[in-house]
Amino acid sequence: MDRLISCWNVTEKCYFVVQDDSEEMALKKIAEHTEKVHNLKFTEEMREKAISVIRKAA
Ligand SMILES: [Zn+2]
Repeated sequence: MDRLISCWNVTEKCYFVVQDDSEEMALKKIAEHTEKVHNLKFTEEMREKAISVIRKAA
C-alpha cells in the first residue's frame, strides 16, 4: 500500500516522486526533497496539498 507524492503537486517545478509505505514518511521525504533540491521550506499549505494528492499505488 505505497503512498506516492509527486513534487509537481506541491512545487509545480519537477516530476520527482516519493514513495513510501507510510503517509508520514512520504511527507517527510517530499519535505526533504523540496528543502534540499528546491531550497523551499515545506509549508503547512504544501503539506496539505501533498496529503490531498496522496494516492495508493496501483
Ligand atoms: Zn522537486
